[in-house]
Amino acid sequence: MKYKAYTSRNFEEIPQISTLSSKTIEEMKAVAAVFPFKTNNYVVEQLINWNNIPADPVYQLTFPQPGMLPKNILDKLTDAVRSGDSEQLAVQARNIQMEMNPQPAGQLELNVPEYYNQPLSGLQHKYRETVLFFPEHGQTCHAYCTYCFRWAQFIGIDELKMAGRETEILIDYLEDHPEVTDLLITGGDPMFMRTKLVRRYIEPILRKKPGGLQTIRIGTKALSYWPYRFTTDSDAPELLDLFREVAAAGFNLSVMAHFTHIVEMETEEAAAAIELIKSTGAVIRCQSPILKQINDDADMWAEMWKKQVHFGLIPYYMFVARDTGPKSYFTLTLDETYRIFSKAMRQVTGLARTVRGPSMSTKAGKVLLVGISEINGEQFYALKFIQARDTELVNKVFYAKYNPDAVWITDLKPAFDSDRRFFTGQKPEVEFLLPCRSGRDSEVEAGKNCC
Ligand SMILES: *Cc1c(COP(=O)(O)O)cnc(C)c1O
Ligand code: SF4
Repeated sequence: MKYKAYTSRNFEEIPQISTLSSKTIEEMKAVAAVFPFKTNNYVVEQLINWNNIPADPVYQLTFPQPGMLPKNILDKLTDAVRSGDSEQLAVQARNIQMEMNPQPAGQLELNVPEYYNQPLSGLQHKYRETVLFFPEHGQTCHAYCTYCFRWAQFIGIDELKMAGRETEILIDYLEDHPEVTDLLITGGDPMFMRTKLVRRYIEPILRKKPGGLQTIRIGTKALSYWPYRFTTDSDAPELLDLFREVAAAGFNLSVMAHFTHIVEMETEEAAAAIELIKSTGAVIRCQSPILKQINDDADMWAEMWKKQVHFGLIPYYMFVARDTGPKSYFTLTLDETYRIFSKAMRQVTGLARTVRGPSMSTKAGKVLLVGISEINGEQFYALKFIQARDTELVNKVFYAKYNPDAVWITDLKPAFDSDRRFFTGQKPEVEFLLPCRSGRDSEVEAGKNCC
């Protein structure tokens, strides 16, 4: 299939768009001015069910929705769209984007390692065993998810972009840190790069075998958004060859696939891509945030995990989504999230229960919502660090008072005095210096919802 990208500039060329009302199209343009979108012919033709608009999950995932902006802002922007004043629209949208950037200066440096006193801006080393690498050329995606926080990387707010440096520096860093076993290559979507570029990043690592490195992980949504990357794209065979070379060099290759909804796994092309990746010896692990409007459905999660196991993939994480809009467009409460996760868990066997969740990525680490317990007639959340910057915290269980309105750990209060210490540093993880969609509160920080 020949790739055709659609963005806010040309999306009216999508044949199905003409079936939408002019009001819907105007609002889409208005919201898109703030939250840029990008999709392609595969997503439009094979994943979206156009008889189920606007409820269709992939439609919600792909196209900006009026509920993503407060009504007064939406109306102002829609007026600018109607008047045809594109300059005015751009200025207004830019102001809103800037207002939505709540990041206090200096946060970008958090987790960024140094090398000979130089910050390595394309690296992040938060957990002892794992280094994240953001290849400069991999900081865009085949399509943008409406809920993604990383969009600022893609729209040219350059000072916010974490550009990768030479692989050489990465290798030196790994040599100096033999405790690092896992390298996670992420973006954006590194699989958006042509194979020649991917090879430029990975081949030197295979040759040098730096430090204690054992596993290379690649975070990607290409299986969902463009499975042809692994099947019929002209450089797909070379990519699979490179995957084989990773195994041949003695490394594990783990493809961290981002499946948000089961429909992304139901096309012939996705199945073919999965088979090809598996044939290289790579293991595919699956993760996604849980989001209202898109995948807040326990039965769907259960079916999706079963399908992952059926295909030989490993369910890995369900992330709690950050509060992504003033109207909480995608946000579920912790209570709802926990109930959906539990209901889904009850429907699958142990092979699918490898999934860990619901998990919140915070500054201190990944916090799992383990359960809702009743102690002496009072309800509490049981929480646990499954990953932590301070390794002493890993696998620690602690308690919070039950709060059915809470959407994040910062909304929770320690249950007992002894739990107090676990509630410091629980702000959402700052992975990037990104504008936050909520724009609600200058304390809100960008978090990890994605690949
Ligand atoms: C989740 C995560 C990792 C990987 O952690 P695992 O528990 O090994 O999957 C590494 N770095 C950051 C910043 C993360 O959020
Ligand atoms: S969630 Fe992943 S695929 Fe989607 S826009 Fe963000 S980085 Fe790209």
